[in-house]
Amino acid sequence: MNLKERITQSIRTVPDFPKPGIMFKDITPLLKDVKLSKEITEALAEYWSPHKLDAIVGIESRGFIWGNSLAQLLSIPFVPIRKIGKLPAETLNFKYDLEYGSAEVEIHKDGIERGKRVLVHDDLLATGGTAIAAAELINMSGGEVAGFSFLVELGFLNGSKELTRYASNIHSLVTY
Ligand code: AMP
Repeated sequence: MNLKERITQSIRTVPDFPKPGIMFKDITPLLKDVKLSKEITEALAEYWSPHKLDAIVGIESRGFIWGNSLAQLLSIPFVPIRKIGKLPAETLNFKYDLEYGSAEVEIHKDGIERGKRVLVHDDLLATGGTAIAAAELINMSGGEVAGFSFLVELGFLNGSKELTRYASNIHSLVTY
């Protein structure tokens, strides 16, 4: 089996979580398979290493897992984007609409230096709203969005279409 097949086989689909109608893609079984988890980081690094990145932002909370491993492998800084109220120092904030209600995320004001090329990383791309919020925070920080990286893309939701406004390079290891 190749890497994509092994990832797909390890991801656990949990129906109706966190609410009816959602097929939740649970990546926690991948974390128990140390070899696979390491190979995922290496595959991400192989793809992104030619792209001259200066930093990676990871989106709370599953974006921290391989986002930080990838940053370590590429020897570049990792910067967390968190839900409102979690970061202790001064922040930049971005509010966005969800299907029901809204959400707000933030980044430390000194997280990204002006002019730096920054990769957005998360475990999964669905509608794209969360990744767009991350891209907006990078732009507000004076950085440049260099691309988007996901383990999983739910292709039928067309989220990547929305992201092309920020960067043309959108990479997912597996697509459903
Ligand atoms: P979106 O903003 O719609 O692209 O949603 C992406 C964010 O929500 C990511 O941080 C995902 O971890 C989470 N998410 C959305 N849908 C799912 C799903 N079906 N399974 C697992 N995580 C999901």
